[in-house]
Amino acid sequence: MSETQELPETLDYATWARAVREGRLLGQECQDCGHVAGAPKGACAQCGSRDIETVELPTTGEVYTETTVNVPPIQFEDRGYQVALVQLGDARVMARIEGDHVDIGEAATLAGYVDEDEDHPAPVFERA
Ligand SMILES: [Zn+2]
Repeated sequence: MSETQELPETLDYATWARAVREGRLLGQECQDCGHVAGAPKGACAQCGSRDIETVELPTTGEVYTETTVNVPPIQFEDRGYQVALVQLGDARVMARIEGDHVDIGEAATLAGYVDEDEDHPAPVFERA
């Protein structure tokens, strides 16, 4: 990955959220089993190891699975919205999709974020 960006050794939520606001996605790669997570966690979700390293994730990937949420919270008004699990390198990241519907296997790219509530930005993707 890029050597030009300083990445914190331990990824906390605030750092992850700040990166989302800057248009970057950070994840964690387990040094024991190689599992890559797309969100900050205290330990590897796969093997429980705490030897995890912060990595920068690609911002374009492929839709792994998707669904449309038809009972949206009030801030999304009266339409459903699409949520997808996007495969970014070795990580899968849950994201909202805006604009055109993106099918499984199609490419999606990071387009911004929405604040689901104060200080909790969620990545937003669109068809690449
Ligand atoms: Zn692991």
